[in-house]
Amino acid sequence: MTRTIRMAVPNKGRLKDPTVALLKQAGLVFEQTERALSVPVRNVDLELLFVRTDDVCELVADGVAELGITGLDLLAETGMDLEVISELNYGRCRLTAAVPNASPVTTLADFAGLRVATAHPHTTAAYFEKEGVDATTIALRGSVEVAPKLDVADAIVDLVSSGSTMKVNGLRPVATLLESQAVLVSQHDVNGEVGALVEQMATMLTSVVAARRKRYVLMNAPADALDEIEAIIPGVDAPSVVPLAHDPTKVAIHSVVDADDVWAVLPKLKAAGASGLLVLPIHQMIA
Ligand code: AMP
Repeated sequence: MTRTIRMAVPNKGRLKDPTVALLKQAGLVFEQTERALSVPVRNVDLELLFVRTDDVCELVADGVAELGITGLDLLAETGMDLEVISELNYGRCRLTAAVPNASPVTTLADFAGLRVATAHPHTTAAYFEKEGVDATTIALRGSVEVAPKLDVADAIVDLVSSGSTMKVNGLRPVATLLESQAVLVSQHDVNGEVGALVEQMATMLTSVVAARRKRYVLMNAPADALDEIEAIIPGVDAPSVVPLAHDPTKVAIHSVVDADDVWAVLPKLKAAGASGLLVLPIHQMIA
């Protein structure tokens, strides 16, 4: 009988939908219902455990699940020594120290003597200690950004993505403690059959993360423009060049381009004589 491994994933909150989307794009077939904690994957020996995002690390550390997806900030906050197998490039945010707009504080050193409210008390206390700043950490579970208004604290440390929530609450960022994103975690040194399954899952998920950053670009071009076109296409891999069936003066060129570069590259390719340009998404990519 083959071994089934477990992956703990968020059952609600910001990381749930992008995590489910990642798992589905990686080809896992499962039906998630609102209430089920444990969901079998139909086409892989894998069971998904839908749990609170901040319980994921604990379940992996205890060996209840071999893999987990959570925020890097939550891993830091638990202080658990888990392996970050892969950064998943969603759920990006910064753990930021901020003060009310009217505060005289401008640098981290100015936090000395202040009361700092946060839902990340361990990370915050460790950071201030490392920086030699004697601030008092006040642990709150939520609504951290209103703590200064309620005079519960003089400053806060909270997660920020766009910064609009802080702005709405009249807060000004002063320092970044940590850059976070969703990560795939396991215990260290998982070997044997389980290790092979963990590695297989990690490969499938990272292939999706890598592919999301890339586009497949196809075009026809004059054969004598090939050198110029190769110089325009960024990246290390040589493009594939295929002769056209009925026109020896032209070739078809296939290439993988960074998604961020596509907008700048297309007009240059057109100017170099490329035509019939197609830009396609890539589903999965393994180097
Ligand atoms: P949840 O509290 O379940 O919605 O999930 C919170 C997790 O989502 C955090 O621990 C972060 O890893 C991630 N996240 C990404 N952006 C933000 C944000 N702007 N505020 C709070 N959490 C964020």
